[in-house]
Amino acid sequence: MSAQLPKLPYAYDALEPYCDEATVRLHHDVHHKAYVDGLNNTERNLAKARDEGDYVLIKHWERELAFHGSGHILHTLFWENMRPGGGGTAQGSLAKRIAENFGSFENFKKQFTAAAVAVEGSGWTLLVWSPYFKELEILQAENHQNLAQWGVVPLLTVDVWEHAYYLKYQNKRADWVEAWWNLVNWEDVLKRFENCVDLKGDR
Ligand code: MN
Repeated sequence: MSAQLPKLPYAYDALEPYCDEATVRLHHDVHHKAYVDGLNNTERNLAKARDEGDYVLIKHWERELAFHGSGHILHTLFWENMRPGGGGTAQGSLAKRIAENFGSFENFKKQFTAAAVAVEGSGWTLLVWSPYFKELEILQAENHQNLAQWGVVPLLTVDVWEHAYYLKYQNKRADWVEAWWNLVNWEDVLKRFENCVDLKGDR
């Protein structure tokens, strides 16, 4: 099995003016593709290592597996989490759970925004469901894979690598995050929450 670059669920210019066409083209066709290619290259090299019984580079390939695999997963989620004409607030059972876990939607939005703006270097911020704790959590990710909490299901994510916003927003990451809220596909986030909320954390 090899990983595939998924098609964008909308046109390249569909997220204007919040996310510009040139950024979406580069981000999807070049950056996301590089993680898909990197993951497939890693899998090929791990298969070769197994065939040859040679694990001298195992630390390198395990790191590549975490980096490229997480990069592919997060970018796929990122595209599906957005839609033209998105924004607004969480819906249904997710709205209720956000209010329970964070006090209010506004509190959730403030914490998520603060976490996204404050990611050190290149990374992400995520809303996740923890089947272990039966709680929603907000996590940062450095690169794609660092600062993760095991076993959580990612529901919503924003990319705060410079490649996600630099053409339009230059160094103003806070402006990108503020604009990104206008693209959130809350129907997609709700569907993801409903699909995982009954997962058992202990098996
Ligand atoms: Mn990216």
